[in-house]
Amino acid sequence: MKNIFNISVKKTTYKTSLKKNDKVLVISGKDNGKSGKILRILSDRNKALVEGVNIVKKHQKPTPTSSGGIVEKEAPIELSNLLIVCPKCAEGTRISKKVLEDGSKIRICKKCGEEIPEENK
Ligand SMILES: [Zn+2]
Repeated sequence: MKNIFNISVKKTTYKTSLKKNDKVLVISGKDNGKSGKILRILSDRNKALVEGVNIVKKHQKPTPTSSGGIVEKEAPIELSNLLIVCPKCAEGTRISKKVLEDGSKIRICKKCGEEIPEENK
């Protein structure tokens, strides 16, 4: 009998150059055109939480520390719907990568060619 479960499932994770604290622009969906800071990258789901983007209303039960009610919270958004905002040209841009002589990698704005630094360093 063949073992039908013996199939190697390759998990395809979207390779992102986006990092926590990056300023990003939403290019698709209901928040198209909004920008915000990345709060968290959910790389296993190819999504990110972005400050002020994809807000959903959640009902919260009262707890000893809060009175409950409707809480507005960010919901994860697809990484492919996000573009990094270049600090130099202040526009959403694609990133190219550059390897420096010492082997470290930096992110380069495809529009102006400037380095896009990581904020969480
Ligand atoms: Zn730029």
